[in-house]
Parts: sequence; structure tokens; C-alpha cells
Amino acid sequence: MSATAEQTTPAEQAEPVFSLQLNQDQKDIREWVHGFAEGVVRPAAHEWDEREETPWPIIQEAAKIGLYSFEALAQFYADETGLTLPIVNEELFWGDAGIGMAIMGTSLAVAAIFGQGTGEQFGEWVPQCFGTVDEPKVAAFCSSEPDAGSDVSAIRTTARYDEAKDEWVLNGQKAWATNGGIAAVHIIIATVDRELGARGHAAFVVPPGTKGLEQGAKVSKHGLRASHTADVHLDDCRVPGSCLLGGKEKLDERLARVREGGRGRSAAALQTFEATRPSVGAQALGIARAAYEYALDYAREREQFGRKIIENQAIAFALADMKLEIDAARLLVWRASWMGRTGVPFEAAEGSMSKLKAGEVALWATERAMHILGGNGYTREFPVERWHRDAKIYTIFEGTSEIQRLVISRAISGVQIR
Ligand SMILES: Cc1cc2nc3c(=O)[nH]c(=O)nc-3n(C[C@H](O)[C@H](O)[C@H](O)COP(=O)(O)OP(=O)(O)OC[C@H]3O[C@@H](n4cnc5c(N)ncnc54)[C@H](O)[C@@H]3O)c2cc1C
Repeated sequence: MSATAEQTTPAEQAEPVFSLQLNQDQKDIREWVHGFAEGVVRPAAHEWDEREETPWPIIQEAAKIGLYSFEALAQFYADETGLTLPIVNEELFWGDAGIGMAIMGTSLAVAAIFGQGTGEQFGEWVPQCFGTVDEPKVAAFCSSEPDAGSDVSAIRTTARYDEAKDEWVLNGQKAWATNGGIAAVHIIIATVDRELGARGHAAFVVPPGTKGLEQGAKVSKHGLRASHTADVHLDDCRVPGSCLLGGKEKLDERLARVREGGRGRSAAALQTFEATRPSVGAQALGIARAAYEYALDYAREREQFGRKIIENQAIAFALADMKLEIDAARLLVWRASWMGRTGVPFEAAEGSMSKLKAGEVALWATERAMHILGGNGYTREFPVERWHRDAKIYTIFEGTSEIQRLVISRAISGVQIR
């Protein structure tokens, strides 16, 4: 029996409710993004994968229709159920993951500004991350370093405060930065006190054109090749005091608390990853679904031994398992997105669960799809080979599968598993 409003207390009424029933807005946005993915992104995917370049014309197309913009991201985030963001990511990455990342890579930097910056900083920097329709820009979030990948606490990039000038001086090398060096706005995670490990980190905005920030080597990759990845060098890179996200007072208070043995809020990079993991899981889902749908169509058409290959249980059951796993992963992604948006605590690391499951399903499902296409699956004439290459990164970045398992196992056990 459902409780009526009269029977419930105000606290009970405020309890967020999870529902799989999409509202009209969510359906409209899904259709809109899917249309763009199908009509613009997918037809361009092969070309930009081969070129290994940022697809600026496609980013501009996305900006023209309002999909690549601060307003769009704000609208997706505003959905109180948390489901719009994963829906958008799934549809866009269904079109192509490399181009999808070229469009969505900026959102990692935006998430850091949103999560750690003040309202004023958000208003100042986020529009600059996107640029304008005529001249779109991208942003980069730089946490990883050559010796600090999974182990974020090992970050060596330093931030020193020059009180006389009210400036922060950044020095170090960042690795693997999506949009690194080509971004208008870079968010740099640096240590202000190495002794405090990850709790001595802070996040800094490096404004467009700042001296001392240079792109290092551009990485040639296995997949996601339309998305630019590069090292970033910081050599006495000076930014105004106001570029410390959250402000100096808050940082000083936090550091003092940590030095006294109290709890400081967790590391700058880790906070950002926690918030973005379900969206990253949704991207992986988009790739998995693309591969599943393609393999299903192919299996219905392809004939061997005088019958469609789907008439063989071996093929049909593989497709059944793909559908099953993709839907299961989507439920985890939606749950985590909903929890993150409604403030339900991730007690069993549900954000990590969603990313882990979706990433592994994407890798597995794209491999199955290649197999169902036989020799064609192994060629660049067919897209499943690219989808498989793209899927692999989802078990590596934003925390490898091992790191997600570490986070989950620590959360469920309370034991410091290593
Ligand atoms: C295409 C691409 C884009 C990226 N974009 C960004 C970006 O925009 N910003 C950014 O900051 N970073 C980015 N990264 C970096 C990415 O987040 C790191 O590559 C990732 O965190 C893994 O770090 P690593 O490569 O140093 O691997 P390592 O940490 O060296 O790990 C190597 C292996 O050891 C395992 N391992 C490590 N520690 C443990 C442990 N405790 N227990 C069990 N196994 C363990 C790992 O799971 C992995 O299998 C990107 C990387 C790529 C490839």
C-alpha cells in the first residue's frame, strides 16, 4: 500500500525515490543526443580515428546545436534524478567514443571546478572551458603523472604560494592529460604539502595563455584516437591567488585540521573521480550497446551452412548474454548516478561498482561482437574493431579495474586491503 502525503512525515516525503520511469524531458534529450550521434558523430568516427586528431568541426557542430555548452551540461546536471547525464553519455558514446571524449573530456575539468571551486570561480572559468560557438574551446583535468597513476598520493607537481605577489607557482609534469596542452583551461592537481600525501593536494586553474604551461609529448593510442592525450609541463607557471579552487582560507583551514590529526576532506583528484565515475561508466555502456546492436543485425543477416548464423544457439546465446550484461551494467550506472545526485552516500562504493562493471562489460561485449562478425570483425572496414579498441580504456582510466575493486572491497569490509 502506498503512503499518502498526509500519512508521511516531512522527512519521509523528502526521501529521494529511484525510478526507472523516464520523464518526457529525459526522453526528449535522449532522442536529441541520439540523433546527433547517429547523424553527425558516427559517420565521422572512422575518419577521425584514422587522423588521430581532435575533431574540431564536430565539436563545433555540437556547439551549434547547443550540446557542447555550459548551459547544456548545467541542464543535464539539473535533472534531480541524476539520470540525464548517463543517458546523454551513453547516447553520444554510442555514436563514437573518440569523438565522444573530444566533446565530453571538458566535463572532467568542469566537475573539478564545480566540486571544489566557489560560485564565483565557477562563473568565471566554466564558460571559458567551452568557448563560443564560433570558437569552441576544450578544458583539461591534469592529475596523473609519470610516477603517479593509480597512486594519486604520489603526485610530485608542487604549488608554492608567493605571498608578496599573491600568486601560486606550479612546477612539475603531468601525464596522459585528455586535452592537455590544447585546452583553454587546465585544472592542475598539485601538492602544497607532500608530507600529507593526497590530503595535501589542491586544485588550480591555469587560465588560457598562461606562461610556463607547455604541452609535452602527444600520446599515440590504441583507441579513443580522436581524443587528444598529452603530457603537460609546468615550469614556474604562475597563476593568480584566486586560481586556487575553493580559495586559500579554506585550504589553510583544511591543512591545519589534517596536521592536527583531524579529518580533511579527501584529495582533490579523488573527489573529482568519485563524482564522475557513473558518467564514465555510461560512456562504456554506449560503446557496448553499439557493438551489441551491430552484432545482432549482422547475425540476423549473415548466412552459413544454409541458415542465418543467429539460428545457432552459440551466437544467439552470446547476444542474449550481451544484452543481459549491458542492461545489468546500466542499472548499476543509473543507481550510482541517482545516488550521487540525490546525496545518498556511496556506502559500498556504488560509483566504483558502476564504472567497474560497465568498463568490463564494454570490453567483453565488443570482443564478443568482433567474434560474431568473424573475419569482418577484425578489419577496419567494420566499426566493431574500433569499438573494441575504444572499450579497453574503460578498464584503465579514472581508476583501473583493480583500483575499483580495491575501493569496493575497502568500503564493504572496512579493512585497509592492499
Ligand atoms: C587515453 C587516456 C586518457 C587519460 N586521461 C587522463 C586525464 O584526462 N587526466 C588524468 O589525470 N589522467 C588521465 N589518464 C591517466 C589514467 O587515469 C591512468 O593511466 C590510470 O589511472 C592508471 O595509471 P597508470 O597508467 O600510471 O598505471 P599504474 O598505476 O602504473 O598501474 C599499472 C597496473 O598496476 C595495477 N595496480 C596498481 N596499483 C595496484 C594495487 N594497489 N593493487 C592492484 N593492482 C594495482 C593497475 O591496476 C594496472 O593494471 C588517461 C589515460 C589514458 C590512457
